Amino acid sequence: MKMNNFHEPIHVLNGHIDLWNTIDDIITNGNEENPFYICDVNDIIQKYRMWKSVMPRVKPHYAVKCNDHPTVLKVLAALGLGFDCASKAEIDKILSLGVDPSRIIYAHTTKPLNHLRHAAKSNVNLMTFDNEMELHKIKNIHPDARTVIRIKYDAKDADCILGLKFGCEPHTEAPHLLHIARSLGINVVGVSFHVGSGCHDPSAFHGAIEAARFVFDFASTLGYDFNLLDIGGGYPGEMDDSINKYGKIINLALEEYFPNKSIKIISEPGTFFVGSAFTLACNVHSSKKVVTQDPVTGKTSTQFMYYINDGVFGSLSCVISYHILKIPKPLKNYSGAKKFPSIIWGPTCDSMDQVLGDILLPELQLGEWLVFADMGAYTLPLCTPFNGFESPSVYSIISHNNWLFLNSRTPFVQEDFAVNESENVLDVIDSEMQAEMHYAFPQTSFVRG
Ligand code: PLP
Repeated sequence: MKMNNFHEPIHVLNGHIDLWNTIDDIITNGNEENPFYICDVNDIIQKYRMWKSVMPRVKPHYAVKCNDHPTVLKVLAALGLGFDCASKAEIDKILSLGVDPSRIIYAHTTKPLNHLRHAAKSNVNLMTFDNEMELHKIKNIHPDARTVIRIKYDAKDADCILGLKFGCEPHTEAPHLLHIARSLGINVVGVSFHVGSGCHDPSAFHGAIEAARFVFDFASTLGYDFNLLDIGGGYPGEMDDSINKYGKIINLALEEYFPNKSIKIISEPGTFFVGSAFTLACNVHSSKKVVTQDPVTGKTSTQFMYYINDGVFGSLSCVISYHILKIPKPLKNYSGAKKFPSIIWGPTCDSMDQVLGDILLPELQLGEWLVFADMGAYTLPLCTPFNGFESPSVYSIISHNNWLFLNSRTPFVQEDFAVNESENVLDVIDSEMQAEMHYAFPQTSFVRG
């Protein structure tokens, strides 16, 4: 089941929202058997408020690659964020929402020529570089671009180290590249870095900001007058107060190295804005009980193998790419039940498709659901169609108050979401889908425009 991208349904729920009840409602009212996500828009709005209060000087440019679901992009556009786009298609997605090209940074240092041409044609003028070839490409294809030199500064502990592939050494390569940029007449306006996605070492931001200061100062010796610092992404995605630690270090470093408030500070958070907003529900469609006997003691032990309908070729690719394990909980309440060693497998015919090799779970029944929290970052966009398993559908929910808040932000939000156009939520879903639809939220929980 695919949603219509342009009229994405959003379910406006009255009263207190309980995510687990909502998941249960979808399942029990609708016989949903495929895996599905709940996108809690309230969570995204709360992250926006947290960012503004923790780092008011830093203007976030959401990294579209992290999760490009239309609801996410529309909500963040309505909240006034900028966007970090890394390709032609990402640029088009953001422009199609009515976002002005000046709110986009093309944050890819090695751009395919046709993508760069497209950026020029679309008036996306701000972009990063970290190598000499890119400077020549920019000079030939987009000579009016405002460019940002991306330096390398890797956190000691991060899930995805980006310096392996991107960034130039701030003290050696950056001066060389700035000399070349100067001789080509390229307009360089600032410095960017990314300390690594899933950064567990907030102090890296201090070192990176200090290195950026060095590049700013060097650039001024060549006659450049930089006015932009882009501190990248890497912030945590959970809904807790850990962003405070990052904010404290970043704010102090900015005060120390960039006290001049006329320097614009931007960032490229992906995970932070969507990590906790998405919850995935997967169905246990098969299971095996494996009883083994110890040849020496004769003692038997029982293990269960569960097969669920999303896996490492779908939403859970982080298991193989970054060895990050996601621990689910059964939707049904099993408090006090006996637990058994269990393995969770994904749905494909590939034995690499193992979600968890060793977890203690109560004995689950066929058709039960497992729920994975914090599934918003680098999940949906990485789903493959391997073996014919479709990516999960997304049910977006928002509280009545936050719906009113969003609508107060921009006039175009109402047109982009479908909720206000219909008496019944099912009417807003495209007709092909309607034919297959069996679920319905309880009617009482919807506010109609
Ligand atoms: N900016 C760039 C250039 C990236 O490559 C990434 C992630 O790979 C991000 C921003 C977003 O990072 P995160 O999701 O860790 O905030």
